[in-house]
Amino acid sequence: NYKRSLEEAAAFMRAHDRYLVLSHVNPDGDATGSALAVAQMLKDLGKSFVVINEGETPEKFSFLPGSSQILNLSVSPLEEIFSAVIAVDCADRSRMGKVEHLFAPDVQLLNIDHHPTNDGFGTLNVIRTEAAATAEILYDLAATAEFLLQPDLALCLYTGLLTDTGGFRYSNTTPHVMESAARLLTFGVNPGDVAERCLEVITLGHVQVLRRALASLELTHQKLVASVAVSRQDLAEAGANREDAGGLVNYCRNIEGVEVGISFVEADTDVFKVSLRSRSYVNVAEVAQKLGGGGHAKAAGCTVKGPIDTVRKQVLSLVGEAIGSERG
Ligand code: 5GP
Ligand code: MN
Ligand code: MN
Repeated sequence: NYKRSLEEAAAFMRAHDRYLVLSHVNPDGDATGSALAVAQMLKDLGKSFVVINEGETPEKFSFLPGSSQILNLSVSPLEEIFSAVIAVDCADRSRMGKVEHLFAPDVQLLNIDHHPTNDGFGTLNVIRTEAAATAEILYDLAATAEFLLQPDLALCLYTGLLTDTGGFRYSNTTPHVMESAARLLTFGVNPGDVAERCLEVITLGHVQVLRRALASLELTHQKLVASVAVSRQDLAEAGANREDAGGLVNYCRNIEGVEVGISFVEADTDVFKVSLRSRSYVNVAEVAQKLGGGGHAKAAGCTVKGPIDTVRKQVLSLVGEAIGSERG
């Protein structure tokens, strides 16, 4: 029962004095917006808290209220041990990154997420796979638990809704998403500004990486699959970081007639971040899960180790099987 689980989540947020709030590695707009939305709610309750991420929060989310207080653990280690933790937008423990040294042995962990592959790793779980974004669950939480909706909270929630629906374009854009977004706008959120920051602006580094990625474009499986690969050397030559390499997969999936788009981005020597997107019938979350990752039916990811040729072959073969079985 969704409403009851929201009430339990609200009770959790009232039960402790101090909280650790976190989202997933390489945080996106929903992860960052949701973590900061939880922070707003805790502030509203007069609680003390620390918001962390395993790594850096992308510069483009610096407009979100509270973002400057997100501690980047890779540069600012924390000594404190927490007995109450709130994880948002994380499908499993590994998505939180290297953070568990901050957890007390008897840690109470509230897991709020919308991924179908969520394994319920919390001691209390609010998992709603019908939600387009974790921010949508938090919007419902705010309504149910009568947290004060105010401009800062509205901006964080709106950003999560906007980014996880690809600008209200993906098939997860339900009436409830639109109604929630509309209500959030009444708190003064500037939709043009948020969309510009989150969806429109691209870095020069991104364009330089894109140039190299497109040179590696391959169409396979009767042109149903399009993939690109970017090496560490490509990133270095482009003067780009990994964040600049985000979104490459969309160019693949957007090609007319393509069912599955894939990008391979070398995160470390012979370690590839694989992003998968499907257009209609292939469940890429199942493919990603076979490789230790997860996600949604039409947007999923995983990390695969090995030289690019081996990694590409392995992933393409699993995608080929998925296409085969889903077309019967
Ligand atoms: P992206 O390709 O943009 O990194 O991720 C697409 C979707 O797949 C997101 O919903 C993200 O949460 C999920 N995802 C990406 N990488 C991983 C991973 O390594 N493990 C899991 N469980 N989910 C992932
Ligand atoms: Mn996310
Ligand atoms: Mn999300």
